[in-house]
Amino acid sequence: MEIRTEKGADGELGHAIVLHLQENSDEAIVFAAAELGRCLAAMTGREVVHAGAAEAAAGMLPGIAIRMQGDGGTAAAAEQPDGIAIDVDGGSGVISGTNPRSVLMAVYRYLHTLGCRWVRPGRTGEHLPRIVWPAVAVAIQEEASYRHRGICLEGAVSIEHVLEMIDWMPKLGLNSYFIQFREAFTFFERWYKKIEVADTLAFMEQAVAEIRKRGLLYHSVGHGWTCNALGLPGLGWEQVEWQGEADAELAAMIAEVGGERKLWKSVPLDTELCYSNARARQRFVDEAAAYASAHPEIDYLHVWLSDGMNNQCECLACRATTPSDWYVLLLNELDARLSELGIATRIVFLIYQELLWRPLQEQFAHSARFLLMFAPITRTYRQSFADAGELPELPPFVRNQIELPRTIADNIAFLAQWQDRFTGESFDFDYHLMWAQQRDPGHMKLAQILHADIQALASLGLNGYMSCQVQRNCFPSGFAMTVMGSTLWNRTASFDALAEDYYAHAYGKDGVYCQNYLETLSRLYDQINLEGGLGKPLANLERYASVMAELEQFKPIIGRNLASLSAVQARSWRHLEHHRQLWLAMTDILRHYDAGDRQQGYDSWQRLQDWLWEIEPQVADVFDVQNFILVMGWILDGPGQETANNEEAISCED
Ligand SMILES: [Zn+2]
Repeated sequence: MEIRTEKGADGELGHAIVLHLQENSDEAIVFAAAELGRCLAAMTGREVVHAGAAEAAAGMLPGIAIRMQGDGGTAAAAEQPDGIAIDVDGGSGVISGTNPRSVLMAVYRYLHTLGCRWVRPGRTGEHLPRIVWPAVAVAIQEEASYRHRGICLEGAVSIEHVLEMIDWMPKLGLNSYFIQFREAFTFFERWYKKIEVADTLAFMEQAVAEIRKRGLLYHSVGHGWTCNALGLPGLGWEQVEWQGEADAELAAMIAEVGGERKLWKSVPLDTELCYSNARARQRFVDEAAAYASAHPEIDYLHVWLSDGMNNQCECLACRATTPSDWYVLLLNELDARLSELGIATRIVFLIYQELLWRPLQEQFAHSARFLLMFAPITRTYRQSFADAGELPELPPFVRNQIELPRTIADNIAFLAQWQDRFTGESFDFDYHLMWAQQRDPGHMKLAQILHADIQALASLGLNGYMSCQVQRNCFPSGFAMTVMGSTLWNRTASFDALAEDYYAHAYGKDGVYCQNYLETLSRLYDQINLEGGLGKPLANLERYASVMAELEQFKPIIGRNLASLSAVQARSWRHLEHHRQLWLAMTDILRHYDAGDRQQGYDSWQRLQDWLWEIEPQVADVFDVQNFILVMGWILDGPGQETANNEEAISCED
C-alpha cells in the first residue's frame, strides 16, 4: 500500500503517528482512518503516516490498526449489532468495530476519550484539544444498547445542513439517516424557495454518498406511495389542482369518503386509496417494488399509507375489515412481489393514526421482511414513557371518527396490542425535536424526557429510536442531541454526567452557570406549559416576570464570555445571546396575549418575526427560524387550546 503523510497543523515533525489500514478496507473504514489522522495531526502537531497492514504484521512500524473485528465479510457484519473495541497504549494498538460504521464510531469514541468534543454540527462545533503524544492508554469494549439510532429529515434545510448533520451523527453515536419522501423536495424548498425536483434529487445523491462513506444505515421514503399509485407525486403537503377523478378507473382507486372519491382536501400526500380495489393495491405495489428495485442502496424502505386522518374508504368492501387489515394484506402482496424479484430490502411499516388500531384478521406472511415503527405523534412531551403506569382499555375503532391518543399510557396501549400481533423488529419514531423543543426554551426539561424515554424503550420492546426532527436544532445548545446519541448508544448513560460534560466543553468555565440558567428557563416554561396553550393568565403572569428577570440577570455572564479564547465556546455564547434576546421578546409577547392585550402582543410578534429573519444568517446552522415561527403561531392563534401535535400539525405543516 502506498504510504501517505499528513503534516501536523503547525508543521512540527518529531516522531510520526502511524495508522495501519488493511488492503481493500471498506469505504467507511478508510474514512475512519482519515478522520483519526486529521484530528490527531491537529491535536499533537505530529506527522501522521498511513501504512498498510503488511508493515504492521512484519512488526516494522508500531502504530494503531483501524479495522473490523473478526474475519467476517462486510456484508455479514452489516447485520451485526454495532459494537466497538479500543485498545491503544503508547501510541500502538487497535481501534475496531463489529462493522464498518462501528469502526468509525470507535475512532470518534477514542478521540472523545482524548478530549475531543462535537458540541453542534459542523467544524464550528468541533473542539480538538492539544495533547501530548503518545496519549493516555484507552481500553474500551462496548455494544450499542439499541440497533436503530437515527435522524429523519424534517424542517427547512440547505444541502449543507443535511451534510453537516450526517457528518455529526456518528460522532454522537447515531447510525441511521432517513431521507423522507422520494424527492425530499419540500424540506429543501422551504429553505431555497425556488428549486426544482431535479435539484433536490441531486442533493439526495450527495447525501446518500455521505451516508455510504460513513457506513450508516439509509432509510428512505415513507408517505407518498398512495398518491404515486394515482400517478401523482408526493412532494409535500401542498394542495394541487387535479382533474384525475374524471377518469373512472383512477377515481375507483381513491377512497370513498362522504360519498365522494376525490383527493383528500386536495392534498395528494393525504389521500387514501380504496384498498379493497385490487387494481389500487397492484398500482401501489408496482410503485414500491419499482422504487426498491431501482434503489438497492436503501437499507430500510418505509412503506406508509397517506398522511391524512379520518379519510378511510367507506365503500362496502373496505368496511368489511379495518384499515390495518388492509394494510397488512397490501404489505404481504408487496413482500411477495419483492421476493419474486429477489429484492431483500427491509420494509418499515407505520403504526400511526388509523393504523394504531391493530389488524383483526390479517397476519404477516413473512415477518422477517418487516419492521414495526411506532409513531406516537400526538403524545405529550411533558411525560415520559417511563411514566406510563397502568395501560387503559382501548377505544373501539370507528371509521373516520377516530381521535388520537394524548397520554403516554393511551399511546403505549396501542403499541402493546400491536405487539401481540407482530413479534418482529420494531422501533420508536418520535418527535421530541420536531415541535416540542420550541416550547422549552432551555431544552433541559425536554432533554430529560428524551433521556427517560430512550432508557424506557427496551422495556417497551422497542429496539431504538428514529428522531423525526428539524435538522437545525442546537439553539440554545446541542445538548438534547448529545443526550439522544449517548443514551441510544448506552441506555445507562447518566443525564447529570452528560450535562456536566456538555456544558463544560460547549461553554467553558462558566458552563455550570449556563446549565443552571437554561434549567431555570426550562422549569419556568414547564410551569407555564405552552403545550397546554395560552389562557391561564392568573397562574402565568408571575412566571413570565420570573423568566424575564432571569434573562436580564444572565446578560452580564454572557457578555463576559463573548470574547472567549476558544472559538467553539465563543460561538456558543453568541448563540446564547441571540437566544436571550429572542426569549425576552417572546416572553413579553406571550405575557401580552395571556393578559388579554392581544393587539400589542400581535404587533410585537410581527416585529419579532422580522428580527428573526434579520438575524437568521447568524444562527441558521443551529436554528430553524421557520419552524419556530410555525410552532409559536399555533400557540398564539389558538388561545385556550392545547397545542399538542394535532391534526393541523400533522398534515398542514405550512
Ligand atoms: Zn373502498
